[in-house]
Amino acid sequence: MLRQDHEFMDVALQAALQAGRAGEVPIGAVIVHEGEIVAIAANRREQDHDPTAHAEILALQAAGRRLGSWRLNECTLFVTLEPCPMCMGAAVGARLGRLVFACRDPKAGAAISLYELGNDPRLNHRLIVTEGVRRQQASDLLSGFFAALRAGDRAVPDTLVESLATESLAVPEGLAVTESRALPPIQDRP
Ligand SMILES: [Zn+2]
Repeated sequence: MLRQDHEFMDVALQAALQAGRAGEVPIGAVIVHEGEIVAIAANRREQDHDPTAHAEILALQAAGRRLGSWRLNECTLFVTLEPCPMCMGAAVGARLGRLVFACRDPKAGAAISLYELGNDPRLNHRLIVTEGVRRQQASDLLSGFFAALRAGDRAVPDTLVESLATESLAVPEGLAVTESRALPPIQDRP
């Protein structure tokens, strides 16, 4: 059976949820190659003190390592929020085949909202962009997180956890959410 976009997006939503529980803005990403998940990642900016540790970047890096190639023409990236200019730049650089995202980001989105970096004839690669898969769930997760944050609680509310689809795809063996290569913080160095 051919798996559908919303099933892969459910896995990305689970990764986003995990990030939210860890105090990160809840954004998750999954990369699929020939119908199989080859990378799962979530936002880790706070944990890694890394401005580039967006879910999409970590997923692209993990997929490249797993497939043994930086060229990801045959891959589809599923992400819960429209990618920013940095991540769209990385996707174009990776020659990514297709991007699927859940909800738009009117303040930073570079696939449709502010720029169309996936479809710019001045760049050397174009990719297919699909939006709106699990839009409501992704948007509820983000707005619930920020509402909790404003209330002084940096966590994802339980009600949102329960409302997320539970029958998501099983994560393949050895494919836990990517831990990034952590360097020791500068104050811990000898
Ligand atoms: Zn980004």
